Amino acid sequence: MFENLAAAPADPILGLADVYNADERINKINLCVGIYKDENMVTPILACVKKAESFLLENEHSKAYLPIEGLAKFNLATQKLILGEDSPLINDLRVKTAQTPGGTGALRVMADFLVRRTKVRRIWVSNPTWPNHQSVFQTAGLEVREYRYYNAQTHDLDFDALIEDLNQISAGEAVLFHGCCHNPTGIDPTPEQWQIIADLAKQKGWLPVFDLAYQGFGQGLEEDVFGIRLFAQSQPELLIASSYSKNFGLYNERVGALTLIAENADIADRAFSQVKTIIRANYSNPPSHGANIVAHILTNPEMKEEWIDELTTMRQRIHRMRQLFVKTLQDKGANQDFSFIAKQNGMFSFSGLTEQQVMALRNEYGIYIVKSGRLNVAGMTLDNMSLLCESIVKVLS
Ligand code: PMP
Repeated sequence: MFENLAAAPADPILGLADVYNADERINKINLCVGIYKDENMVTPILACVKKAESFLLENEHSKAYLPIEGLAKFNLATQKLILGEDSPLINDLRVKTAQTPGGTGALRVMADFLVRRTKVRRIWVSNPTWPNHQSVFQTAGLEVREYRYYNAQTHDLDFDALIEDLNQISAGEAVLFHGCCHNPTGIDPTPEQWQIIADLAKQKGWLPVFDLAYQGFGQGLEEDVFGIRLFAQSQPELLIASSYSKNFGLYNERVGALTLIAENADIADRAFSQVKTIIRANYSNPPSHGANIVAHILTNPEMKEEWIDELTTMRQRIHRMRQLFVKTLQDKGANQDFSFIAKQNGMFSFSGLTEQQVMALRNEYGIYIVKSGRLNVAGMTLDNMSLLCESIVKVLS
């Protein structure tokens, strides 16, 4: 059965981490992986998470299974965080949430639900997008198509092309949007652009689905869900795959959620019962530790404040690094304008560096950037900025 299998190619992003780890150069810089790093190059455990964990250690009295849809307290807190504390949708019981193993787990449950329980067979994703979108959706049996998103010349959203492509999409097909901090470009629609896209969705009748992996990393917890809330107000149906990996630093605890919005409580109940059958046949029920941490923090006002402070610190560090990167490149004499990087959101930016320049940075200077030119701004520090920018200026000239 196995002997004729060819080796699968390494994951384009995670595979590079192995190459980086094997690199013996002392000054090497890793701008590949999608995790937050602080000024000391550490991916910290948040203080509020540590506190929640010690609370759980004392107060958790059973390891019995969670329900198929996970912790009720966690699910409600997730709905409120995304849709707002006083969302009428929640009050009208139009919203259902299942705790999932990370955002990836939510995307996979979403895709399986669409393929096996609805008539949706095709999903549209932005070009470019996080490469795992293609893998997850295709593996579940969806046909994946791309709509245009990025203008490489202006380093900005290609809004006209986006609208032209969205106009071609038929009712009954799904369209994926990044809630905020678009990965890999760092470019999100403006509030005005979101409004136009939401109006179009309503007019065309396709099913909007959202991937929300970076709430709080862009402009702020509320600002980052502006687009989703617009859609939620105007759409009869919506699916949202959200993740707590980044904003709580809970990467390896696998905490995420799938949120379903339907036209009324009855439809929501029926559709959600089908989501549960998908989960039951997949991993049965989710792990509890990470979700317990998030629920404990989000439902305790003091701890929530503490979390928001820590999240703000992470977001502001990234914004500072963006500005310093642009300024340092300029000071070192870069022959290109990189000011667009300071305007982008979240951890990632499309640098515009070519594959050849990316390879030169890796081979000659030990600087690791994904082949597409996507770089993780959170990998930059006050200490490595000078060397990083000097090296980039050298490969540019
Ligand atoms: N969506 C996007 C756009 C992401 O960047 C990521 C993580 N890199 C995920 C989903 C998955 O998050 P998780 O680790 O929670 O599965």
